[in-house]
Amino acid sequence: MSQRITILPETLTNKIAAGEVVERPASVIKELIENSLDAGATEISVAINAGGRRLIRVTDNGYGMSREDALLALERHATSKIRVDSDLDNILTLGFRGEALPSIASVSRFSLATRETGGSPEGTEIVVEGGRVRDVKACGMPSGTVITVEQIFFNLPPRLKFMKSAETETGHVADVVARMAVSRPDVAFSCTSDDRELLRLQRSDLLRRLTQVVGRESSRHLYPVQGGDDSTTITGFISSPALVRSGTQAIYTYINGRFIRDKVVQHAVMQAYRGVIDRGRYPVIALFIELPPGEVDVNVHPTKHEVRFRRQTVIHDSIQQAVEEVLRRSPWLTAPAAAPHQASHPPAETTGQAYRERIAAAAQASLALPPRLQYRAQPGEQLDTAPTVRVTGAEQIVTVSESSPPFQPPQPPDESAGYFSSLTIIGQFHNEYILCQSGSELVIIDQHAASERVAYQLLKQQSQSGGIESQRLLFPETVELSFSEVAVAVRFNQDLAGIGFELEPFGGTTIMISAAPRMVARKAPLSLIRDILTDLERFGTTAAFDEARDSLLSRIACHSVIRGSHPLEQRQIRELLCRMDQTDFAASCPHGRPVSHVVTLAELQKIFKRT
Ligand code: ADP
Ligand code: MG
Repeated sequence: MSQRITILPETLTNKIAAGEVVERPASVIKELIENSLDAGATEISVAINAGGRRLIRVTDNGYGMSREDALLALERHATSKIRVDSDLDNILTLGFRGEALPSIASVSRFSLATRETGGSPEGTEIVVEGGRVRDVKACGMPSGTVITVEQIFFNLPPRLKFMKSAETETGHVADVVARMAVSRPDVAFSCTSDDRELLRLQRSDLLRRLTQVVGRESSRHLYPVQGGDDSTTITGFISSPALVRSGTQAIYTYINGRFIRDKVVQHAVMQAYRGVIDRGRYPVIALFIELPPGEVDVNVHPTKHEVRFRRQTVIHDSIQQAVEEVLRRSPWLTAPAAAPHQASHPPAETTGQAYRERIAAAAQASLALPPRLQYRAQPGEQLDTAPTVRVTGAEQIVTVSESSPPFQPPQPPDESAGYFSSLTIIGQFHNEYILCQSGSELVIIDQHAASERVAYQLLKQQSQSGGIESQRLLFPETVELSFSEVAVAVRFNQDLAGIGFELEPFGGTTIMISAAPRMVARKAPLSLIRDILTDLERFGTTAAFDEARDSLLSRIACHSVIRGSHPLEQRQIRELLCRMDQTDFAASCPHGRPVSHVVTLAELQKIFKRT
């Protein structure tokens, strides 16, 4: 019998490793910038053509490599950064696997030109094609390193198929450069795409760097954070509740200088903002967590976005505390630009409840300003009545108040019958409650709970009769998930389609949402889909999906309606009352909260001592 087991040739193992670290042009650029930073560069420029598909070039002024080192660097597991096992517990550089260069070189036409600072007067250029060294020659160049990657995945057709449009890939590249740039304001960065300049960032300080990246208007909403304990320091900037985004894109968190997207860290941040900003909204944040390398394992994941903390709870709580500390002081209340009429010296400490109320009120006040819409009409696109906010890269701002009704009724409401339609509308109280009269009774309706229940019942009906109405998104959204979330999305793909979501793999851990339940299609469904995947992760099996269906429907319903206080026109109130009549209110409410409350005349008379 012939031999069954063979040791794979290195060109092949490199290709396999490439599958882990090289997902798309942006991930190549991340690795290359990390190398440049590790090499002490103070200037890094990135250039791409056709979204990086045709060309990626990263140039740095770091300390470069000698010819011998350059050749070694292309060998698998060749690294100058760790030598022995125990170094793994002490990683201070960004790279350490010695996998990036050989992986990238194995799936592209690759060239590495480098000249060592203070070394030989000439540089070395090494040309590699699909993992095979084709040429090694001397070249004239300033000290530093230039890496050029052309025709990525030319020898890996399946990967090539996963690549998205040049525009999408360019977006990812810009995101990566922005993340790394925020982590190192002391390094100058530039990024050009097809000779168009996307970013040019001079060396500066963190606040300036951050506002350059997230948008100039944000600068007056950012406040410094300072926290931690003996072994941990937490520094950076966080936004006031007035500056929010619909997704987590502007949450920049770093551990020991490394960009991470970690659940624990994110949860801690969001806990601090709980009750201060609406659900589904995210602050703008650049947070740097420094802790002894032995306290954190960054070796969990090849692209190193997730980490494992030794003292997870402690870290979580100190992050939350550090952020809360700033929010508690509500510095924006005294900031002249934000609210000049506010008391100039608010008490440094207030009770939790009062603090949240005060912050919420301040946020509300600043949100009342007309939000800036960033809307890009696409060719041939029809404008809907209420403009959707297009989420575009770093500049995106979110509308917080929407004037559209919670959702479109399936058929025109029947004006004739029903208890709620028969009520006489008195008006709205606190933009949260609808007051009505029915004979000698005062009927108070919680408009949010009512809209939510109506939405929930409609979803249930649809789900029982053929499926939930789904709508293709005008602008499919991409969402980056953790590996486990991707696994859940794949496993429950059919079930999710049944409740109106169409999710497609988008390469790596990115998923594209191309359709969503009609009821929520106008709102960015990103946070909803994350919530749902998190739920499903807990439920486990498809059989469990059916049990979970109602709670998922209630989530969708919750997302479909306007949160918090919101002025309603008479017409909208009437519409809501009619729909309430069409809803089976005997069914249990999604959150078990009452929707309406009746105060009788007798009760009022008792209050006023008329009896
Ligand atoms: P790692 O970064 O994990 O060590 P890489 O494959 O990314 O592995 O790089 C291999 C080695 O090549 C690095 O350890 C470093 O010594 C060297 N190197 C890579 N890029 C550069 C650069 N831009 N400047 C100087 N040295 C570099
Ligand atoms: Mg590296």
